[in-house]
Amino acid sequence: MAKPSTETEKDDEWRSKLSPAQYHVLREKGTEPPFSGEYVHTKADGTYCCAACGAELFSSGTKFESGTGWPSFYEPVNAANVELHADNSLFMRRTEVLCKRCGSHLGHVFDDGPQPTGQRFCINSLSLDLKPAPPK
Ligand code: FE
Repeated sequence: MAKPSTETEKDDEWRSKLSPAQYHVLREKGTEPPFSGEYVHTKADGTYCCAACGAELFSSGTKFESGTGWPSFYEPVNAANVELHADNSLFMRRTEVLCKRCGSHLGHVFDDGPQPTGQRFCINSLSLDLKPAPPK
C-alpha cells in the first residue's frame, strides 16, 4: 500500500478538525455568504483567532461596521501573523489574506478602510474564533 503523502495526511487532519463549511472557506478559499457569519455584528471584546490553528489574528478594538456583511478590521493584531497574496481570480484584482502560521484562507484586504490605517480586512466569520477578553 502506498504511504500517504504528508499533504494528504494534513488534509485529512483539516477535514476531521473543521466543519465542511469551515473547510471550504479556510482550505479551499471559499467565501461565506454576506450577513451569514456569526461575527458580522459582534461587538464583544476579545481576540479573533484563526479557526484552523488558533493563531491570534485580529483584535475586537479594530473591528468596524463596514456594511459589507463580513466582519471587518482595520488592522491585524500583528502584521507578522497574516500573509498577503495577490489574487487575480474572478476577474478582480484583490489581495488575499491568509493565516501566516497555517496558510489557511481568511478573506481579502482593501484600501477603503477607516483611519488610522485606511485598510479594510474583510474576513470570513468561518475563519475566525473569538476568544473573549477576561472581565475587567
Ligand atoms: Fe491558522
